[in-house]
Amino acid sequence: MSKANQNNLRPPEKALENSSLRNLVAGTASLVGEAFFAGFIENLAQAFGAQFALASELISKEPMRVRTVAFWQNGILGQNFEYNLQSTPCDCVYGKGLSYFPENLQALFPDDKDLVTMGVNSYFGIPLISSYEEVIGHICILGVDPVADSPFAEEYLRIFAARAAAELQRLKTERDLVKHKDHLQDLVTKQTLHLQSALHEAEVANHAKTEFLTRMSHELRTPLNAILGYTELVTEDAHELLPQNRQLIDKIRMAGVHLNYLIDELLDISQIELGKVRVDLRQCHVNSIIRDCIALVIERAKKHNVSIQYNSDINNFTHIMADSARLKQVLINILVNGIVYNSPGGIVDITVNRVPQTDTVRITVTDNGPGIARENLDKIFEQFERLDAPTKCIDGAGVGLAIAKQLMGLMGGTIGVESEKGKGSTFWLEFASA
Ligand code: ADP
Repeated sequence: MSKANQNNLRPPEKALENSSLRNLVAGTASLVGEAFFAGFIENLAQAFGAQFALASELISKEPMRVRTVAFWQNGILGQNFEYNLQSTPCDCVYGKGLSYFPENLQALFPDDKDLVTMGVNSYFGIPLISSYEEVIGHICILGVDPVADSPFAEEYLRIFAARAAAELQRLKTERDLVKHKDHLQDLVTKQTLHLQSALHEAEVANHAKTEFLTRMSHELRTPLNAILGYTELVTEDAHELLPQNRQLIDKIRMAGVHLNYLIDELLDISQIELGKVRVDLRQCHVNSIIRDCIALVIERAKKHNVSIQYNSDINNFTHIMADSARLKQVLINILVNGIVYNSPGGIVDITVNRVPQTDTVRITVTDNGPGIARENLDKIFEQFERLDAPTKCIDGAGVGLAIAKQLMGLMGGTIGVESEKGKGSTFWLEFASA
């Protein structure tokens, strides 16, 4: 209120007693949000004996526009509404601060037709200021007679304004939080949908790759079988061949056999991926399976000048539940790796034992080859991961260990590796004894 206006103040009549503030506190203490403002505006109107009272929040700065959060008219709560501040007495409150127009209101604001409709002549308003010193709204009272007709009017209105500003700021913060939460939820939903669709696309692509591998492997099989078959026929008449041609045909046969092995691996991995591989679990003699595997790789070991050692701490009657063909496939892959990745003169050591105080049988294959860096130990079980094998010209498709891991899972066993670069590798298989 300006100093000039203060001269117009008269002692309170029936309104603005101490009970007004007590009523404000008691009537709004446990209320928040819109309920608070409904109680607040009633107390404000009654305290000043005003016919109209409103509390607003600023919703736009250009143009200056507000929305009421509570509106009191002639003894009842009215509908909330929005309005532009221009040409209204409220504009002075937002622009200059506390404003009092004791009388002649309609003449002072001729463009504000609502003043005529309401039939009011007097206005008293104050801005609501946030803790960041921003004007966030205002409260005002309007009446036919001068509405701030008390020496305490300004003080009382400031107390009301402080309470309303605190609640309006709290309400806005709460709304902002809800908005942020909604925005976050929106983001999470969008991201989830995005990930789901990316996952679906990846699954479709992976399925297509698997189908392609299966089809190609079958397609390659037919001409390869012809190559191997004809090679076989030609070598049957080996006595008619020149020695150098016999050697060449032998190379063709060996390359064909190797290609056949790679195709088998590709078919295996694609069948496993399509969930088409079944294992036939039966009681298997561990020692005899290991001996069979050694017999199958011994020639290869000799060729690489790698020796194979075998120690068994279990008796010949120790059984495990496994699919013997699939277990041999896993074990041969590990043994062959221990041979081909080793250096001439290297050793591959196989031991079998029971893990102390458990029913578990453990087959361990240790080599003294180049070893595997710690950070690559998980990678080698991934499909098509060959680390630096191609640079060393060692053949392979990079799926043997991926197949081994899947097969071990299907058989209810586990596979693992311990290794360090330059210190050899130890692969182990574990099964519950049957
Ligand atoms: P492949 O032998 O066909 O490449 P694997 O899945 O059997 O495929 O092996 C994956 C990779 O793990 C190999 O390419 C090699 O780099 C590494 N690896 C496997 N076994 C050994 C081993 N005993 N010593 C060193 N590296 C090995």
